[in-house]
Amino acid sequence: MARYTGPDCRLCRREGAKLFLKGDRCYSAACAMNRRAVAPGQHGAARKKVTEYGTQLREKQKVKRIYGLCEKQFHSYYVEADRRKGVTGENMLQLLERRLDNVVYRVGVGVSRSQARQLVNHAHITVNGKTVTIPSYIVKAGDVIAVKESKANNTFFKQLKERKPNGVIPKWLEFDINTLSGKVIALPEREDIGMDVREQLIVELYSK
Ligand code: SF4
Repeated sequence: MARYTGPDCRLCRREGAKLFLKGDRCYSAACAMNRRAVAPGQHGAARKKVTEYGTQLREKQKVKRIYGLCEKQFHSYYVEADRRKGVTGENMLQLLERRLDNVVYRVGVGVSRSQARQLVNHAHITVNGKTVTIPSYIVKAGDVIAVKESKANNTFFKQLKERKPNGVIPKWLEFDINTLSGKVIALPEREDIGMDVREQLIVELYSK
């Protein structure tokens, strides 16, 4: 499966928005969006007329890149969201938020979604007491998410406890950094997701 292996900051510059792909660096003055917030490439700074299709495409690419997914995976969330009752765009964002790697990131265990994905892949995370190594695992209300007991004494998690993540945990999740465990209190509503994205544009693009 094709996977983007280039610089993360280039993706933010392409989308013209901070996608928070690099953890602490994203909150520092070193963030490329603070230094050179233009699209990459020779003509990146040139003004271009953006078509309706172009606007929809950029919005889709932005969300896809925030969650670190390839096109096929991302499209499958749209298909599933469209199949469900309710507003397709909101369903899609809710499914993306419920991914286990995203939950590990949202509670502050991973500094970025890619680091959270690695923690899941490397069997550091349990759901309801069982090790889950699938980043796309969809959590449910009531699920208990924790760092595996045998891994809790790793230097990484010791440093995490000392550092105390400074991000705000969304209200649909709870997490105790001392016990390295938490719970999915409820499923996320659109306002809980709080990202500056226009999901309706993605639905319009895919439903053409
Ligand atoms: Fe994007 Fe983070 Fe790089 Fe800033 S530091 S451009 S937010 S990935």
